[in-house]
Amino acid sequence: MTRRRIATLATALLMVIAMGGSAGTAGAFPPGEGPGGPILVISNPGDPFSRYYAEILTAEGLNAFEVRDVGQVSAATLSGYSVVILAPTALTAAQAASLSSWVEGGGNLIAMRPGGTLAGLLGLGSDTGDLDNGYLRVNTASVPGAGITSETMQFHDRADRWTLADATRVADLYSNATTATSNPAVTLRSVGTAGGQAAAFTYDLARSVVQTRQGNPAWAGDERDFALDSVTRSDDLFFGAKPGDVQPDWVNLSKVAIPQADEQQRLLANLVTHMSADRVPMPRFWYFPRGERAVVILTGDDHASGGTTGQFNQFLAASPPGCSVEDWECIRSTSYVYPNTPVPQATSFQAQGFEIALHLSTGCANFTPGSLAADWSAQLPEFTANFPGLLAPRTNRTHCIAWSDWASEATVGRQFGIRLDTNYYYWPGSWVQNRPGMFTGSGIPMRFADLDGSLIDVYQATTQLTDESEIDIPTHIATLLDRALGQQGYYGAFTANMHTDQANHPGANAIVAAAKARNVPVVSARQMLDWIDGRNNSSFAGLSFDGSSLRFNLNQAAGSRGLEAMVPATGPGGRLLGLTRNGAAVATNSRVVKGIEYLVFAAAPGDYVATYAGGGAGGGGGTTPPADVAAPPGAGTTPQDRLGPRVRVSPRRVRSTRRGVIKLRVRCPRNEQLCRVDLRLRRAGAAVARRRFQVPGAQARRVSLRLKRGARRTLARSSSVRVVAVAAARDAVGNRATTRTRIRLLAWKRR
Ligand SMILES: [Zn+2]
Repeated sequence: MTRRRIATLATALLMVIAMGGSAGTAGAFPPGEGPGGPILVISNPGDPFSRYYAEILTAEGLNAFEVRDVGQVSAATLSGYSVVILAPTALTAAQAASLSSWVEGGGNLIAMRPGGTLAGLLGLGSDTGDLDNGYLRVNTASVPGAGITSETMQFHDRADRWTLADATRVADLYSNATTATSNPAVTLRSVGTAGGQAAAFTYDLARSVVQTRQGNPAWAGDERDFALDSVTRSDDLFFGAKPGDVQPDWVNLSKVAIPQADEQQRLLANLVTHMSADRVPMPRFWYFPRGERAVVILTGDDHASGGTTGQFNQFLAASPPGCSVEDWECIRSTSYVYPNTPVPQATSFQAQGFEIALHLSTGCANFTPGSLAADWSAQLPEFTANFPGLLAPRTNRTHCIAWSDWASEATVGRQFGIRLDTNYYYWPGSWVQNRPGMFTGSGIPMRFADLDGSLIDVYQATTQLTDESEIDIPTHIATLLDRALGQQGYYGAFTANMHTDQANHPGANAIVAAAKARNVPVVSARQMLDWIDGRNNSSFAGLSFDGSSLRFNLNQAAGSRGLEAMVPATGPGGRLLGLTRNGAAVATNSRVVKGIEYLVFAAAPGDYVATYAGGGAGGGGGTTPPADVAAPPGAGTTPQDRLGPRVRVSPRRVRSTRRGVIKLRVRCPRNEQLCRVDLRLRRAGAAVARRRFQVPGAQARRVSLRLKRGARRTLARSSSVRVVAVAAARDAVGNRATTRTRIRLLAWKRR
């Protein structure tokens, strides 16, 4: 049977699939649970790590899943799902048979560290042994692997060394950073004639991601670095060279540039999207608001020195006039303060979007869960008493970044209202050696897991930049941001600790300047927390696909302002033809994410219909067969777009309003997905107005700029002035171009 014939059959068989999950109402779903949808996570009730797949799917924006324990799964329940992620678990013969026949019938199974009962289905041969804490390398010539780094990456915990019988290699195991084994790390196999596929990770991705992010559980509470004193910190969970117990660092710092955990979970996201493509094109949410690929979480600790006010005032001055805090256009930050820190305008700063929260102190000493709770109980009321009118702290960094065990900072902090923790700290300098990167393998705040894998409802936002790690701060921030914005796609929220003991901090100033130069938002930890909660609680519900029309209901949760959703650009029979929300057309932009093209849209709540070419009853116009593993030349890879977006500004003569407002049109070129524009009007070398905004590709946007007072006066006196509109623009993949347009401004005229 030809592939084309198989594809047609698969489409016919799967013409109407009502997916699990009903159209729900917007609202939180608890950590480790899902909102319902076409993805099913089969969990092991004896292994809380299996629920961490919910956290991974949420972080990847695949908020259309359900979690069920393996005992609740039957042939009848499976029939409602397009993709199953099977956590490591022992299967009965009946359960294995149900999964096999479901895949034969067109289902898509991704098995994590599977046992022998599924080996035949997965195309694995025999299990020849174990490999602990090794490496893997993604095959970027495979469709799911295109767009993932081709460098070797570390995994943690145990992989099984399977021989390959009858499956394609999506990634290979490496025994170290440079030595390949003959064993696969990730495999994919087409099964039967109905479009079914079976994939395997030969290691438990959830355990690996948790340990990559949080360190070596065997080193919890072990003082290893002896860098400064005997305080145990997060870096001790990664630090190899303990005197008397020298081992490799948990993170190979020659790999620190790569967000190793993020890249591996994005490989899972690619597999989900690719495998489901013939059954249901899978919608996703983007990581940050308004298509941002990088965000700075700017924080500082103030030990009652009182530099907070000075830094906040600088950030107010550095913010564009008329900026929107809600849209992350203003420079905002967090100061973690001792309760006796003088911040006379604290409530006013809070009202303007800054965050002031407690800098909890253990006296720079190791803690027990009990002593930590006692510290919170004593210091939180002091903070509240000294700062009446401030919101209760929801984010934290503890003094001396004490981290005495595996996760008590998170579990105890949660009892005192903390939801985001910045204590993971890229330090000390002698270990960092001025190497920019993400030592926890991630730029994405995700929930902590306890030693047994149980989710803790506190996000880990690792501090990647500190002013006490002997790093070149301008180089580090530029490197992190450029890797996020550029072709590597190492997206991230990058947390900095630039101590607010100082009123004027060169490191903070350098970070703000680097962010502004790249149109990257600078936010407080609290702003980031509100966003992640809002994004993670948003969901897709009631999905169905009839071969050409994908229908779903989008729930947008509070806090997710600027949320973007995306659907695959291509369905089983061809490209997306159009998208409607509640019956009205919705504009989309193309975005290639880790090798897969999506069409992106503003995620307003409502009922959506995405219509794809071909497929459907009598559609017939299928162009490419799905369910193929080998990538045809050029397919699935990012078009090499290296041209900066040259935006056009018009008109050349424009009259000011009485209040000094100038209205201009800015057009983004046709070949771009998006232009992020930083538009300045300059006169005699000085900026007289500025505005930052985005314009979708091939569209024009009207923007208003307000002249500064001096320029308004000059214009009023001379009735017309010449300015140059300098438009610095960056496209969706980070290419930059600047255009300069001479414009004559005319003074307001009384009519
Ligand atoms: Zn401190």
